[in-house]
Amino acid sequence: MIPFWINWNTNLCRYGLFIVVLSSFVLAVSSNTALLVVDVQNCFLPGGSLAVTDADEIIPVINNIRRKHTDLFTLTVFTQDWHCADHVSFASQHTGHSPFDVVILQYDENGNLCNETSSSTPCTVEKSINQTLWPDHCVINTTGAQFSDNIHRKPTDIVVKKGYHCEIDSYSGFYDNGGFTKTELEAVLQSHEIETVVIVGLALDYCVYFTALDARRVGYNVYVVVDASRPVSPADKQTVVTDMDNRGIHVVNSTELRFLVSSSTSFNICFYYCIVCFILVYIASSIVLI
Ligand SMILES: [Zn+2]
Repeated sequence: MIPFWINWNTNLCRYGLFIVVLSSFVLAVSSNTALLVVDVQNCFLPGGSLAVTDADEIIPVINNIRRKHTDLFTLTVFTQDWHCADHVSFASQHTGHSPFDVVILQYDENGNLCNETSSSTPCTVEKSINQTLWPDHCVINTTGAQFSDNIHRKPTDIVVKKGYHCEIDSYSGFYDNGGFTKTELEAVLQSHEIETVVIVGLALDYCVYFTALDARRVGYNVYVVVDASRPVSPADKQTVVTDMDNRGIHVVNSTELRFLVSSSTSFNICFYYCIVCFILVYIASSIVLI
């Protein structure tokens, strides 16, 4: 006798198959992937005020990723460093300091800078942040803040600006360095039901690194493509790569991208598929026992 649960003539089997197929379809659709292109702006490229060594070499790699994997990405988001002319991260705003010095900036609970506060308006320090001082860069509406002319962009690409609060820096594309304010990046990803993000751009040891950490922390499956990124400090490259690896961030080369992302997505679908099947068999068994 054919077991009831593989007998097509039973409604239970038909409905069960329908539910499995529907669930798989929903899961497949919801496994969306976004490409995050971090700060590929003139200031960070050769000739720029804060040029990252060999940064221009990543542009053909990023363009190639977009060309080869057009069907992989639901959307592409460009982050854009976007600073006030007197931004607190600029060495020019700190008397006696030079670029790459580190100063301590203190903030109250609302993210207001305490260092400049006069004694007549007391400021309760909630958070102290070590701020590396940079040359002036990516000032709002300047050529240096514009994206490279050589990087492929499409009308459907989304731009998320960061670092526009004058008194606090923002390495991550998600939050400022104190975690006081967030950009619209997370809302954009949520609106497209993104589960996986692939991160490229500049610089590996700062804005790419902190964007990846925040993406992982808020729950995304995260890939950082190392040959599509360059560090400010080559000596720190291995340290940040190891740290990202320890935090569950996949550090890969662009040649591995298709296989790794698709296998991860397939694994997730298979995993949920098995759970659905298990629940159906369990329900079917219960009905028969009744
Ligand atoms: Zn900046």
